[in-house]
Amino acid sequence: LRRNPNEPEFHQAVDEVLSCLGRVIAKHPDYADHALIERICEPERQIIFRIPWVDEQGQVHINRGFRVQFNSALGPFKGGMRFHPSVNVGIIKFLGFEQTFKNALTGMPIGGGKGGSDFDPKGRSELEIMRFCQSMMTELHRHIGEYTDVPAGDIGVGKREIGYMFGQYKRLANRYEAGVLTGKGLSYGGSRARTEATGYGTVWFTDSMLRTRGTSLDGKTVVVSGSGNVAIYAIEKAQELGAKVIACSDSAGYVVDENGLDLDLVKELKEVRRDRISEYDRLKGDGVYYVAGGSIWDVPCDIALPCATQNELNGKDAKTLIRNGVIAVAEGANMPATPDAVNAFHKADVLFAPGKAANAGGVATSALEMQQNASRDSWSFDKTADRLETIMRNIHDDCAETAATYGEQGNYVVGANIAGFVRVAEAMRALGVV
Ligand code: NDP
Repeated sequence: LRRNPNEPEFHQAVDEVLSCLGRVIAKHPDYADHALIERICEPERQIIFRIPWVDEQGQVHINRGFRVQFNSALGPFKGGMRFHPSVNVGIIKFLGFEQTFKNALTGMPIGGGKGGSDFDPKGRSELEIMRFCQSMMTELHRHIGEYTDVPAGDIGVGKREIGYMFGQYKRLANRYEAGVLTGKGLSYGGSRARTEATGYGTVWFTDSMLRTRGTSLDGKTVVVSGSGNVAIYAIEKAQELGAKVIACSDSAGYVVDENGLDLDLVKELKEVRRDRISEYDRLKGDGVYYVAGGSIWDVPCDIALPCATQNELNGKDAKTLIRNGVIAVAEGANMPATPDAVNAFHKADVLFAPGKAANAGGVATSALEMQQNASRDSWSFDKTADRLETIMRNIHDDCAETAATYGEQGNYVVGANIAGFVRVAEAMRALGVV
């Protein structure tokens, strides 16, 4: 705490992992040798920089850019860039720390990192977004590379922003290094199924959990928070597997459609028009209502998929969900459930999937994008999605088996933290004290 003041999200993430490690250290005390635990909690490198840019009125703005290169024992640093006014070093550190274990769980050769800026893209013009991305990359380009650190998207950063960043990187580096960024557009080295990957993966993980209780998504009522990249494709896959998804949200409020959400309309609003989710109510009318503010977790459902942001589902929300009969919760977002909420789900025997396992599909497909770039290849949608489904089902089984091995059957938090930690720790031990 003294070393990392004012970083509550980072403390929360570290606390969760460390609270699971006692069982491993008891079995393998050598994992704690050579200050390995202290080293794993300390980023290898943190970069903070100025991002000046000029708006449409000619006014200069200064934002702050971050890249936290957390752990490269398993491969180049890898993790998204977030553009949101709430971004600060503590948030990026928590995300980078989580990313290290998540990436390990995928079984792919990627280390953990994260970055972003306190820039708010809402209401900014196309040109302003481009100028901002270019200014960010003007500094960031010296710290990244195919073999060093490979950023991707996150909140506020999608294909459009990745395109502008890639264009600026290419110009500054004077080389076409496709593998330096992932989440690229298909026309310049992107991977099929990357856009869908995180949401689809979260639902496959949920389906695997449900199978352990002899059930499935078919006929279940689902609530998904957020209406961004992860939320939209979680809705799509849940609907494909027979669920009725009745609610989604954005930071202003949530919409409920008792007939099941019209996903084409959600996509039109969020991906094309970049509009608010309240517009869904206005355009759709019958059987639909919109609640400004409030908690989407008040809507009764069988399965809850928080896909917006950290700490969006608290202990009180968890109790409401439990009272309403929820049977499974999977984190599409990073750390959306508070520790209180997670405890409540465990106590009530609700299946609970932590983000570092359930939302690993995005980064796993990013690693597949890197493979395609390295071999100058481009796979079909089905081939990529099939590989992703296999990876997600393997992560599920890995977490379930690890939890059982350590006497915590059905506890995916323990399973994910231990399985991820062991992989990173083994590599760190092999590399010596570095
Ligand atoms: P997007 O920017 O596409 O969408 C984010 C959504 O969450 C929007 O609907 C946004 O609403 C809402 N949201 C953001 N901040 C808040 C807030 N403070 N309160 C309520 N709602 C909020 O981001 P993604 O879908 O890419 O990311 C969502 C989550 O998933 C994040 O936690 C991210 O770290 C995680 N994740 C993303 C991956 C990816 O591949 N994209 C991979 C793994 C994890 P509004 O538009 O009003 O801001």
